[in-house]
Amino acid sequence: MDFEPSDAQLRFRTEIRQFLAELPPATSAAVHDSGTLHSWSVHRAMAERGWLKAAWPVEQGGQGRDPFEMATLNEEFARAGIPIEGWLISELVAKTLQIVGTEQQRHEVIPAILSGEILMCLGYSEPDSGSDVAAARTRATRDGDGWVIDGQKMFTTMAHEASHVFLLARTNPDVPKHRGLTMFLVPLDAPGVEVRPVHTLGGERTNATFYERVRVPDSARVGEVDGGWDVMMVALAFERQPAAAGHLLHLVDRAIAWARRPDAGGRAPIERPEVRACLARAYTDLEVSRLMGYRMTWLTARDVLPHTQGSLAKLFSSEALMRAASSLVDVVGADGLLAGHGTEAPADGWIEHEFRHSVVTTIYAGTSEIQRGIIAERHLGLPRAQARRASA
Ligand SMILES: Cc1cc2nc3c(=O)[nH]c(=O)nc-3n(C[C@H](O)[C@H](O)[C@H](O)COP(=O)(O)OP(=O)(O)OC[C@H]3O[C@@H](n4cnc5c(N)ncnc54)[C@H](O)[C@@H]3O)c2cc1C
Repeated sequence: MDFEPSDAQLRFRTEIRQFLAELPPATSAAVHDSGTLHSWSVHRAMAERGWLKAAWPVEQGGQGRDPFEMATLNEEFARAGIPIEGWLISELVAKTLQIVGTEQQRHEVIPAILSGEILMCLGYSEPDSGSDVAAARTRATRDGDGWVIDGQKMFTTMAHEASHVFLLARTNPDVPKHRGLTMFLVPLDAPGVEVRPVHTLGGERTNATFYERVRVPDSARVGEVDGGWDVMMVALAFERQPAAAGHLLHLVDRAIAWARRPDAGGRAPIERPEVRACLARAYTDLEVSRLMGYRMTWLTARDVLPHTQGSLAKLFSSEALMRAASSLVDVVGADGLLAGHGTEAPADGWIEHEFRHSVVTTIYAGTSEIQRGIIAERHLGLPRAQARRASA
């Protein structure tokens, strides 16, 4: 593999850096402090530049940029600390629809997502089914030529901003749990939908969403009836990414800047060996996370869905982020727990922020334990874990 950025990547990087440099300086802190890792003004500005569909073929109105250029876009936004989760979630739904959607969904829903007209969120988890997501109990029942949805979802991140939820529902309770699920695109302004905020330790706002006799037409169904698990597998392959690598890049950059700045006594933290050791470890983990990301980019460029590679990258990068934030708090000392951007907190408060937030990255898109199980069983071919006996 050639690690040198191509001319196209370099040109795109310059364009992106210029765009980011022109954003109001407080954008990053404001978006993080809002708890909603999506900024409508950034999203619309990206839409104007055609970046929401930058990866899509020119025939579909896109810019035909290759996966390496798209990796550059993700890295530059991460370096600047500008979260674009609204777009990332919406695009993963668009990519899933491209593979499993109907003609109508490909011709109407995908362009609406890629123009920024509609925003998606993911409705898989429920109060009693997170890791075991196939145990979902939210029901979709046939009603004439449509469906009626009743139930509750938990952690529906972005539901308070999104127009639609990509919702996993039970359509058949009489078959093994994985076989009785169907996926739907449900408009969040439909009568019977309620969104309630949930604020997390990591500072992110997510939501509990409630569905009471919500009617959707059959055209809202994605994939076959009772074929929702297959749709989920495609969507999860797009979701499991070394996403935490972006947060790690941002944290390492900010921590290095902090370590170089002399304190009141004229001594820079970088002069302390434990600070240098901590930064070197974090930087090495960052480099490994990036390499895992490049490997996924390479697979994507070959039209391969990166199933277990995504689990490896997600597991490593989220745990590396947690390690880095935790050891930075240790080397900074008590001040490492000072919070708030634009205050006296070291590294502008990003160390404290990531100390809380990094933990959450090991939970969503499948916890670390679940990723380890996938790697053990599907990547290494080890025997399936035995269910624990009730008496154990
Ligand atoms: C901030 C945040 C945002 C989120 N956003 C979304 C979203 O947008 N959409 C969405 O659908 N979901 C979302 N989630 C939900 C997330 O995917 C789940 O929290 C996650 O899958 C874990 O499920 P759970 O919380 O029910 O925990 P549980 O599944 O109850 O797990 C509890 C503990 O048991 C462990 N465990 C469970 N099963 C096993 C097993 N088989 N082997 C070993 N250990 C196991 C877990 O690792 C965990 O440590 C979000 C979660 C958070 C925290």
